[in-house]
Amino acid sequence: LSDKLDKALHVLKGHGSITEVNVAETLKEVRRALLDADVNFKTAKEFTNTVKEKALGQNVLTTLQPGQLMVKLVKDELTELMGGETAGINLSGTPTVILMSGLQGSGKTTFSGKLANYLKTKKSKKPLLVACDIYRPAAINQLHVVGDQIGVEVYSEPENKNPVQIAQNAIAHAKQNGFNVVIVDTAGRLAIDEAMMTEISNVHKAINPQETLFVVDAMTGQDAVNTAKAFNERLNFDGVVLTKLDGDTRGGAAISIKSVVDKPIKFIGTGEKMDAIDVFHPARMADRILGMGDVVSLVERAQEQFDEEEARKLQKKIAKNQFGFDDFLNQIQQVKKMGSMKDLVGMIPGAGKALKDVDIDDDAFKGIEAIIHSMTPKERTEPAIINGSRKKRIASGSGTSVQQVNQLLKQFDQMSKMMKMMQGGGGRKMMQAMGK
Ligand code: GDP
Ligand code: MG
Repeated sequence: LSDKLDKALHVLKGHGSITEVNVAETLKEVRRALLDADVNFKTAKEFTNTVKEKALGQNVLTTLQPGQLMVKLVKDELTELMGGETAGINLSGTPTVILMSGLQGSGKTTFSGKLANYLKTKKSKKPLLVACDIYRPAAINQLHVVGDQIGVEVYSEPENKNPVQIAQNAIAHAKQNGFNVVIVDTAGRLAIDEAMMTEISNVHKAINPQETLFVVDAMTGQDAVNTAKAFNERLNFDGVVLTKLDGDTRGGAAISIKSVVDKPIKFIGTGEKMDAIDVFHPARMADRILGMGDVVSLVERAQEQFDEEEARKLQKKIAKNQFGFDDFLNQIQQVKKMGSMKDLVGMIPGAGKALKDVDIDDDAFKGIEAIIHSMTPKERTEPAIINGSRKKRIASGSGTSVQQVNQLLKQFDQMSKMMKMMQGGGGRKMMQAMGK
């Protein structure tokens, strides 16, 4: 999924700025990437529509860094789609009863162990693990192995074939022996069937858990959504556990499940070991899905390219003697984005000396901008026409004095000459530095 989104956001690269056309193009690719990751069609479509609306609403196209804003919008929206905030686990009740549900092989037994270990080491709880998978002796054994590994007691009744009774007995045992969390591991089938659903809902009714968690293998994609729906209809579960998010899995299932059953994802499993458990953070998952680091640098590169193109245009103008006050204003704005005038001068190879006498400090920008804003378009492109009466008008319009207007005109003249002079050698470098 990350590769695909990278590609989608690649669209931004090589374009001077983002246009409405390539917002649409980018989002089309984002949507395709989501679909490829098994996010369901409706969700993907709604997602891209929302991002598009927000992008247009925020005037992404006219901001200084449209690419970055687009990435932020996609990321924020993705975070929202996965629940926004981190959902906590409900640890009320004495003891807290937590029921695991899900298909066989989804990772219930492994996660039961991980959760017990997490609550024991991170939350100072005294958990009890309960083996309610009555069909396979190996399953009871598996939980005992897990319990031994993490030093947590496992309650089981190998001869008892009634999971409701086992669960109830376990809770009684917990109360008598000071356990404050009871984690009930249950049996699953390879596919949803009525017998399994009846059994788990009977256990659910009998023990009335504080937390019913639906465990699902993140690699199962669209199937995960159907399974989640079926379990939710019967159990109205409280949260989702997404397992096997290690390796290549990019988490498309996280997006679909949350949007289809509207239950928070609470934990993720990231490996077979007992400490491979993480609280689910929507924002981090969005980063993961977007491969954020790469995308951000990609957009930065696109931005640099934009600046270079601007610099090239500017160079042409200078060569043709078309450098005007609008370009000057544009340069000032670019410089302000970057830092101080001194920094800029430092970036111009060999220009420091030439600019030494040109007294433009950072505060001066304000006055300069005001003066340029008070000029007519014609005055900006042809400063030579600015005569005495025009100077007076500009000065009063910008709240400055004729003297200040004169000073700027002189500076501008000097600067234009210098730029022309530098065209031969260091000019290109200087323009690039200014562009940045
Ligand atoms: P259950 O049938 O739902 O109880 O599933 P299990 O807990 O027995 O897990 C099934 C398989 O998935 C086992 O081989 C586990 O080691 C493996 N497994 C469980 N969680 C994870 C995980 O987060 N990452 C990986 N890589 N494997 C996992
Ligand atoms: Mg199991």
